[in-house]
Amino acid sequence: MDNALNNALLARCAQKYGTPLYVYDFHSITTQFQAFKNAFKARKSLICYALKANSNLSIINHLAKLGSGADCVSIGEVRRALLAGIPKYKIIYSGVGKRDDEICEALKSDILFLNVESAAELERIESIAKDLGVVARISVRVNPNIDAKTHPYISTGLHENKFGVDIQSAKQMYIFAKNSPHIEPIGIHFHIGSQLTDLEPIRQGAMKIAELTHSLLALKIDIKFFDVGGGVGIRYTDEREIPLYDYAQAILEALRGLDVTIICEPGRYIVGKSGVLVSKVLYEKHNGHKRFVIVDAAMNDLMRPALYNAVHTMRVVQRDNIVCAEDLCLSEGIKSHQSRADVVGAICESSDFLAKDIVLPPLAHSDIVAFENVGAYGYSMAHTYNTRPRAAEVGVQDDEDFLIKPMECFENMVADEIKALEQRHTGN
Ligand SMILES: *Cc1c(COP(=O)(O)O)cnc(C)c1O
Repeated sequence: MDNALNNALLARCAQKYGTPLYVYDFHSITTQFQAFKNAFKARKSLICYALKANSNLSIINHLAKLGSGADCVSIGEVRRALLAGIPKYKIIYSGVGKRDDEICEALKSDILFLNVESAAELERIESIAKDLGVVARISVRVNPNIDAKTHPYISTGLHENKFGVDIQSAKQMYIFAKNSPHIEPIGIHFHIGSQLTDLEPIRQGAMKIAELTHSLLALKIDIKFFDVGGGVGIRYTDEREIPLYDYAQAILEALRGLDVTIICEPGRYIVGKSGVLVSKVLYEKHNGHKRFVIVDAAMNDLMRPALYNAVHTMRVVQRDNIVCAEDLCLSEGIKSHQSRADVVGAICESSDFLAKDIVLPPLAHSDIVAFENVGAYGYSMAHTYNTRPRAAEVGVQDDEDFLIKPMECFENMVADEIKALEQRHTGN
């Protein structure tokens, strides 16, 4: 286990806050952040936590206190970063589809830079900066056309993906930017995908982008920030993890002879292992030979299995009102009753599963289970399909638990609709 969330603690939290419930170990977040920072200590570096992995304000604030910056992909995330106490000069903003109002607010907020993803976007930024009378600091997201060897939905560094621009276009954009009085190109960026478990594509990407950086410097374009994106993978089941030392060395090698500050945008690596999703068993049922365990969490709480066929191991936290020992050391009697089951939620979709074909002991109403490694892209992807309120979120530090977001309530979910309905009926 990579966090301190033992069964006794989770059973206590389930009792206190109800289920489904996200629980995060803040100490684990600290450890992961510091490991990343340390890996790059030989150079000037800025770790910009990718908010989209988990954007709860308490988590961002915790990282802000550790010195983290923020990588944002919407103006909403920029606002969250500022609200949570991340200084504006540590905030960067990426994304292929920034709206005019988002660009305008980002420029007014005076964040470190915008990662630009097309020539058309660069022209919009120039015109908005001109209207505002400011100089827009930018970086170009370069698509190095490298196969990151990850799931196709989270692979972003190939020309067939919508992200970034090819090297030739990037050069032209930098020349355009240098010649514009409203734009100051200060960085270069690439991000080839998420959940990367192979170092080679990152090494190749860094080499290609470093080469481009040298040619930009030769054109007197002063690149100060070399942004290597995020994407470092974690172990969910049996994946290989890239050692951070090797990761940093590969990047440092590519940067030999370049005087730049390294920016990293890890999301999953920082928070992924810190969180579990606690859920209660509702029913067991058998359709023919197939066994289902139906729980009170569903794909609206945790999308990753439905979206990517992602695997999150599940442990039994409490059975028959007895908190399980950590390794679920079942008595031989129970072991002989184990069988394979799918663990599913209540949503009207066959893709609504949380675990498939796993071996489980007999479970009954009110038994408690927990899905592991859901700190990243768990709650941040949660939604309210089937009018299911989003779960509560709880932090744990030094064995103390504290609410960081209550469960959504029905009244809030429908409040704006009720207002709209009433306005239409009363005609004002
Ligand atoms: C999603 C994203 C990240 C973070 O990816 P992880 O796999 O969570 O580390 C970083 N940078 C950009 C531009 C992203 O879109």
